[in-house]
Amino acid sequence: MNTPPVTPTPETLAWAILTEAEATDAIKSMVEERAGCGNLPTPDSINDYLFWIEDEAEIQEAQLETSPDETDRPPHLVLLRELAGRLRDLGFTPDAPPQAADEGEKVKLAVAAYAWLCPKCNKYQRVIEVTLTVMCVACGKSFSVADHHHVYG
Ligand SMILES: [Zn+2]
Repeated sequence: MNTPPVTPTPETLAWAILTEAEATDAIKSMVEERAGCGNLPTPDSINDYLFWIEDEAEIQEAQLETSPDETDRPPHLVLLRELAGRLRDLGFTPDAPPQAADEGEKVKLAVAAYAWLCPKCNKYQRVIEVTLTVMCVACGKSFSVADHHHVYG
């Protein structure tokens, strides 16, 4: 029988690697738990998982430097780095999750400029303040400003 060989896509291979890492070391659970703790979206792509795996590896590396006698750390760290390397070899790159909005700190939106179009030369430009007249930076002609209205969106 001549069955054409099925070439798995990098995506298929990567998910197989993650499934295996979940079975042996609960890596996917670790990632999902960490995303959940940070109130961040549940990872749903290889790039998402890769980000968290490398992030976890970095945290463990930092811990290893500060407390080197924790003997259970190195094997897990090696595994995380190896896993990340295999995903990168397949062409994936880490995707940082969008940061959750800081609820405590609010930012005020301000209108930074008013835009207008020169009727004479069509030059599009901005003025920062509301003035009675505007002068075109391109042709030098002055115009009086019509009544304006704030637009709420
Ligand atoms: Zn003009």
